[in-house]
Amino acid sequence: MSFTHNKHRFSLDPTKIRPDFPAIHSHPEIAYFDNAATTQKPKQVLDAVADFHHAYCANPHRSNHDWAMRATLELEKVKKQIAKFIGAKSHKNIIFVQGSTHASQVLADVFIREVVPEYGTILISKKEHTSLHEAWQRKNKHYKKDITLKDIEYNSMGTYSLEYLTEAATEKVDLAVLTHVHNVIGLEMGIAEAREILGSTPILVDGAQSITHLPINVTELGIQAFYFSAHKLFSFGGLGILWVSDEYLNYFSEIENGTPNTEAIISLGAAISYVEKISVSKIESYLLELTQYALAEMKTVPGIEYLPGPAMCPCASGDGILSFRKEGIESGELALWLNEHGIFTRAGNHCTATTLTENSLRISLQIYNTPQEIDKLIEVLKNI
Ligand code: PMP
Repeated sequence: MSFTHNKHRFSLDPTKIRPDFPAIHSHPEIAYFDNAATTQKPKQVLDAVADFHHAYCANPHRSNHDWAMRATLELEKVKKQIAKFIGAKSHKNIIFVQGSTHASQVLADVFIREVVPEYGTILISKKEHTSLHEAWQRKNKHYKKDITLKDIEYNSMGTYSLEYLTEAATEKVDLAVLTHVHNVIGLEMGIAEAREILGSTPILVDGAQSITHLPINVTELGIQAFYFSAHKLFSFGGLGILWVSDEYLNYFSEIENGTPNTEAIISLGAAISYVEKISVSKIESYLLELTQYALAEMKTVPGIEYLPGPAMCPCASGDGILSFRKEGIESGELALWLNEHGIFTRAGNHCTATTLTENSLRISLQIYNTPQEIDKLIEVLKNI
């Protein structure tokens, strides 16, 4: 499936993938570069949900008729698929929630109420998605425990400073809430390194941006919770997956009460099957190659200022996210200009509340994006 474009080698051919995605396939004039916000859905996913409604629509875990039992079996099957996909030992530790933001709120509620002591310390960065920091701040206030939420310093590339973590670990840390891949910087933040440094401190990980981008293994990472949103993994909205390790699982026993989002769960099962058929490692390689290609070509565009991220890394890295500013034009204006040319991006601060990211433009890539679409972006950027 590999091919070459402008002397760059790519290990996956997106033209073989694009026909699977109806919205992408029927709009060849659009370059959809907003995948960190949400991904497009392949027909395999759409068909699985249509099949549920055409063949066995029922409320799982309740009635004992054939359709209800089939719906129940499908849900159990998807939980097992998810567990395998993220390297969890058992599907019993998988909890269906509404999304990453909801998972963050649920974790903050439980850990602040039940786990972190009064006047304790949590390492959590203010430079990451607001769903992280805000939930923990709010619950800290609500439960009046006066917990210190200690900001984590980054290094110049934009990943966690290991020196800072090492220094922080010399004092008592009760919990660390970390991000696997940053939604604007677009780099792996260093969970394995943080695990080494933080010893037995529980670590909870936001995987919203790592889920389709890297092979995930929560067991190998040695973490205590991991979550992501299904809609960023080619599936339907309104569903999040929260994995919690055995030690803390009983605190979450009531989260799933009520009718589940069956459509989204079925869509996620189909999406995981789809992704596994391509292989996550191949997706990881392709997104790295496409990020590196974009970086190489952007060098020909004048007036680009990069945010921390792949552009600052001494070695080739990148998970399909590239954020920058263009001299002389505000990011919102730039996004509108690109939109005029059929290039869909995201501008602003991307749900992070920090000057690090403000007024930047983000392109976020997926398996259906092509180097030719990058060429189109470069052409438009050059002609502003
Ligand atoms: N965390 C990160 C790193 C994200 O990128 C996002 C989505 N932009 C979220 C959390 C929130 O996801 P959702 O809106 O699906 O709850």
